[in-house]
Amino acid sequence: MTGLRALLEGALVVEEEVSQDFEAARVLQSNRDRTVLFRHIRGHTMPVVGNLCPTRERLCSALGTTREGYLGHVAAALERPVEPAVREGGSCQEVTLGSLGDLPILRHFEGDGGRYITSGIVIARDEELGRNASVHRLMVSGQKRLRIRMVERHLYEYYKRAEARGEALEVAVAVGIHPAVLYAASYPAPIGYDEFRLAGGLLGRPLELVRCKTVGLEVPREAEIIIEGRIPPGRLEDEGPFVDVTGTYDIVRHQPYIEATKITCRRDALYQALLPSSPEHRLLMGMPRECGIYTSVSKVAKVRNVCLTEGSCSWLHGAVSIEKATEEDGKRAIMAALEGHKSMKHVVVVDSDIDVFDPQALEFAIATRFQADRDAVILPNRKGSSLDPSAGKGALTTKVGLDATKPLDREKEYELARIPEKKA
Ligand code: MN
Repeated sequence: MTGLRALLEGALVVEEEVSQDFEAARVLQSNRDRTVLFRHIRGHTMPVVGNLCPTRERLCSALGTTREGYLGHVAAALERPVEPAVREGGSCQEVTLGSLGDLPILRHFEGDGGRYITSGIVIARDEELGRNASVHRLMVSGQKRLRIRMVERHLYEYYKRAEARGEALEVAVAVGIHPAVLYAASYPAPIGYDEFRLAGGLLGRPLELVRCKTVGLEVPREAEIIIEGRIPPGRLEDEGPFVDVTGTYDIVRHQPYIEATKITCRRDALYQALLPSSPEHRLLMGMPRECGIYTSVSKVAKVRNVCLTEGSCSWLHGAVSIEKATEEDGKRAIMAALEGHKSMKHVVVVDSDIDVFDPQALEFAIATRFQADRDAVILPNRKGSSLDPSAGKGALTTKVGLDATKPLDREKEYELARIPEKKA
């Protein structure tokens, strides 16, 4: 199965009726480490599932790997991508819905601008660049209208190119898809790279697609819900506020919108919720960036592992463990790591005996292997993350790197004492 249903086992099942406005979000937030299945959403027959991959272990397992094997698994999938395969007919087109109102789309936080689809991947095509799949928040603003936040990345480029031709951009939104597909769409691949090929590489088999009914695109055939539509050129509306990965509100901006032309779903469709700022949201955003850090630091040192830490919303703080070979490796790794993930503000580089997934171990390394005057790198006035409320205008920030690796010539002083197994 390349759908999401294989992951429902062990879910917390909520039988009582809850509202799509705040109530479901509240349950997801108070069960942030567990998959939750809501059987009854008020006014709807479609159940809702959320927190599908709420831990690093769950997401790694859905990607077909482990916490330790993750970086290598993605690197291998990128090296051996698998072409998607178009099939005839798919369960995602079994039923046609009348409007977005037929979907139990959640309203999450008090000050949000409206109900938001947060687990949808948006698929588009450009004659020269080919297919693109990316994740965008989608604010419901009518029976058939979704305002779309388009950061100036690939889809924005596709939209601008269509706009220059005076054309609407055709899109399809797939909701309720396998985490490997959601992960691939979150991966910062170069423009023109078909993210579905990465999904196939991760799954170890072609991602099966089906042709849309009203637009010239193909979508994952095991998706729960498909929204086909067009983004008209040059027409903008207010999008936001919206709570992003740090749990703080993002501002209102003028953004384009999708005018839906067809909405279809499986006969027994599940709506997938993804709570903003939840561990699942953070992991899906942060983990692909760990690969970028790994690639960048691997050019200057031997990397053992990389983690964007949970406390930093899996976005702002990185920990990199290396096999140190020369005294300069620590600081080189700091610079390379910051280059590999531009939104990162603080990074700590540790020896390979430190578990980067263990906050206590990282603090131990800083406590016992780090001297600020010698081992800190401070870089003021760098472009950081717009999601960091403490950053200045234009997301200007001060970046800090901590080299918490042991000096190579003082190995003995840093040796960790052991208790012998046998009597002396
Ligand atoms: Mn792309």
